[in-house]
Amino acid sequence: MRIKILGSAAGGGFPQWNCACPNCRRLREGTLRGKARTQTQIAFAPDPKSNVWFLISASPDLRQQILAAPDLAPRSKAPQQFPIAGVFLPSADVDSVMGLLHLREFQPFFVFAAASVQRILKKENKIFSVLDRADPPVQWQTISGKGRLGCHLSESPGEAPDFVCVTLQLGGSYPDYVSEELQRNLPAEEAALGFVFEQKNRSVFIAPSLSGRNSEWTKAAASSDVVLIDGTFWSDDELSKTGRSKKTAREIGHLPLSGSGGLLEQFPAGAKGRKILIHINNTNPILDEDSAEHRAVLDAGFEIAYDGMEFDL
Ligand SMILES: [Zn+2]
Repeated sequence: MRIKILGSAAGGGFPQWNCACPNCRRLREGTLRGKARTQTQIAFAPDPKSNVWFLISASPDLRQQILAAPDLAPRSKAPQQFPIAGVFLPSADVDSVMGLLHLREFQPFFVFAAASVQRILKKENKIFSVLDRADPPVQWQTISGKGRLGCHLSESPGEAPDFVCVTLQLGGSYPDYVSEELQRNLPAEEAALGFVFEQKNRSVFIAPSLSGRNSEWTKAAASSDVVLIDGTFWSDDELSKTGRSKKTAREIGHLPLSGSGGLLEQFPAGAKGRKILIHINNTNPILDEDSAEHRAVLDAGFEIAYDGMEFDL
């Protein structure tokens, strides 16, 4: 399995168009040692030779990200013209679903999403029906909040799956744009899902938004060969310190990296795999490669995802 990081920033990207926090300002001025980043987008190819790709989330920057990744371009001679076969949606957050509109050009593919997320997108957000224009239309597949789904690249039933998608509940909330009435009727446990993709005894755990409100994630973090995990905020009060919001990191569904009970402290000791931080907010001091915080996460054994990073599982 090949995994590509097409985007590694949190919502707004880095720099964010309307932000003058020290990171954004210094990146624009050219005085910060660090990389610009687009909004988080992960892609994987279960069998790189066949060049069939799946997306995890559909980022607001998806069109630009596909153009920057030549493997994802259609090849006229291949029987399958368009390499993106499906999209796994972890939530109904704008940053996870907006890119579906970039994929609206009469193209059939699969969308794997919890029943609640489908209800939000189909019932309250009519704009996504644009995906029905493809012939055949985009196919929605329901994933449960807690389960295993065998995925096949070929149509022949009875064969072993090419990879398995395990879902787990990360304890987040439904986005603010969902009506109160619908929120009341949706099961809370489907609001934010993490994925473990397994193939031939190897696995990658993907949780770019981790609320820390339950501990479901720790087992997957300990046992997976690669972990792509929430690096959104360094500190719980980062948004108020930079004047971006009065809310804390935890209040908006992100376990901060530092502090008591933070991700660095809670990450299972002795975890066997690579640990990679992703979904990094533009206010996060780890983006400054000369900062003490950047050094601290590297010293704790974490890598920091960047746009264009890729590796084989
Ligand atoms: Zn900023």
